[in-house]
Amino acid sequence: MIKFLDLQKVNLLYQQEIEAQLLKTFRSGWYLFGEEVKLFEENLAAYIGVEHAIGVANGLDALRLILKAYIEMGIMEHGDEVIVPANTYIATILAITDNNLVPVLIEPDINTYNIDIAKIEAKLSERTKAIMIVHLYGQAVFSNDLKILAEKHNLKIIEDNAQAIGAEWNDIKTGNLGDAAGFSFYPGKNLGAIGDAGAITTNDDALAKTIRAVANYGSEQKYVNMYQGLNSRLDEIQAAVLNVKLKYLDTENQIRKEIALFFIENIKNSTIILPQLPIDNVHVWHLFVIRTSQRDKLKQYLDEKGIQTLIHYPIPPHQQQAYPELNHLSFPITEQIHREVLSLPISPVMTQEEIRLIVDTINAYTL
Ligand SMILES: *Cc1c(COP(=O)(O)O)cnc(C)c1O
Repeated sequence: MIKFLDLQKVNLLYQQEIEAQLLKTFRSGWYLFGEEVKLFEENLAAYIGVEHAIGVANGLDALRLILKAYIEMGIMEHGDEVIVPANTYIATILAITDNNLVPVLIEPDINTYNIDIAKIEAKLSERTKAIMIVHLYGQAVFSNDLKILAEKHNLKIIEDNAQAIGAEWNDIKTGNLGDAAGFSFYPGKNLGAIGDAGAITTNDDALAKTIRAVANYGSEQKYVNMYQGLNSRLDEIQAAVLNVKLKYLDTENQIRKEIALFFIENIKNSTIILPQLPIDNVHVWHLFVIRTSQRDKLKQYLDEKGIQTLIHYPIPPHQQQAYPELNHLSFPITEQIHREVLSLPISPVMTQEEIRLIVDTINAYTL
């Protein structure tokens, strides 16, 4: 059986190094706000090319905290609108509504599955304060038009970089394209911890300071609370693992890229639409997503052949029971994507035989 993602195998690549770090951290007796987190924040900031990286508990918190800090700074207020792609994981939307902000959904581009930047301006209002872009499946989405639009209307650009660490636009890393970015180190992401973990990056000193306080009970000084904050920390154990794995991220992303290229060059089946190779950005292939009108049939066929696939995602946010206020909306492109997408296994530990078998099995598939 070819697993969608063999996490055990991924992490055992670095078994000795990770186990040594875990033991060291355990024995240190220091588990929060320590050297490993500090080092990881420095390493991540250097890797992304930003002034500040702040470790937090998970990716959803990273996005929530950015918006919460902007509210505490008086840059946004409850009821303000945030532009966001209709085609995203629910966490992006949750971060907005959790702060009593209003998500304004925009259709994606059918070729990249990322937000269609040309459709944003028509949806702006006096209450629009930010554009939250999502580098979906590992592909950077950005343009000079987007930057100009944000400047013209005084909007913050916030990146949901949960799926795209290492991706680039114009030689700039995702996480350094906008005003602030949220990262997830959920175990299955391209840089995965061994539990929940996340981070925020920004070049904005005041924002970084506010986020640190908000994430620490709203406090800069112990027992003195400036904000009604949260408790959202990256712990030393996760940071120790991430410090090891960050060193290998580029190598792993390169392997993903080679597998994606092999799939694109060798999968030949007229019932299947392959992802396009990006022309103006670096894609890190967190997910390799194909499309077909017979998605459920293809998934079942691959299951029977021992190839595990997943759907990212089966139900769009605006059709979720959690959002009755969005249920009346219609986003035909988003809905089509949700009906047709299927994610093939792609990871740094797949063997040549497995990659070949996936190609041959898909090529042999007929409706
Ligand atoms: C994984 C993910 C998140 C949330 O990250 P968690 O660490 O699971 O909270 C947010 N946005 C996107 C696009 C994601 O893929």
